[in-house]
Amino acid sequence: MGNETMKIPQATAKRLPLYYRFLNNLHSSGKQRVSSAELSEAVKVDSATIRRDFSYFGALGKKGYGYNVNYLLTFFRNTLDQDELTKVALIGVGNLGTAFLNYNFLKNNNTKIAVAFDVAEEKIGSAVGDIPIFHMNDLEEVIKREKIGVAILTVPSQFAQTITDRLVGADVKGILNFTPARLTVPSSIRVHHIDLAVELQSLVYFLKHYSESEQE
Ligand code: ATP
Repeated sequence: MGNETMKIPQATAKRLPLYYRFLNNLHSSGKQRVSSAELSEAVKVDSATIRRDFSYFGALGKKGYGYNVNYLLTFFRNTLDQDELTKVALIGVGNLGTAFLNYNFLKNNNTKIAVAFDVAEEKIGSAVGDIPIFHMNDLEEVIKREKIGVAILTVPSQFAQTITDRLVGADVKGILNFTPARLTVPSSIRVHHIDLAVELQSLVYFLKHYSESEQE
């Protein structure tokens, strides 16, 4: 089933966790089927897009029946590797970093921040919840030992590239970049960039300049 992921367009793949979370909730509340209209309302994706997305999963909704929740959940679990725990490192235990450490990612899927790193002496050796904070000097060693595959970057932006180079050297495959810095990585490494300030500005810009009918 893993290979099927290859055929799914990226835009569709990005919506998978959204669908997964909603379907999981439906399943917990005992629902066995769902219509694309219901899904559309819940995840705020138009129903034509949902139907197209689901056709990639081999899930063809039946008229007047909708989609089988169990079938979809099984597919998503396999595709998203929900049963396999992905260990994540967080670099930079400042305000934003600390908030992430306190947030329980396991509630939604099997991703766990296992370790954190910083350079501030007063933070090294302490922990947030059960997540220990290591010194950056130990980055490569700890990442290899703990088999960390993904890193979240919440450091001041001027350090982002240097740290990224070290993460790549330590075999980290994915980076979630919360700094404003644009990162350069080899093509085998995946970077997702979330710049909160830019996202907020662009939201406000769209609200000001586009009428409702023009919004995508
Ligand atoms: P704070 O209130 O702790 O300053 P902040 O999010 O406003 O929070 P930033 O200056 O953005 O602070 O730094 C975020 C965190 O990154 C801090 O804990 C800081 O010690 C840490 N940090 C700074 N430089 C590095 C580095 N080179 N490597 C790893 N962590 C770093």
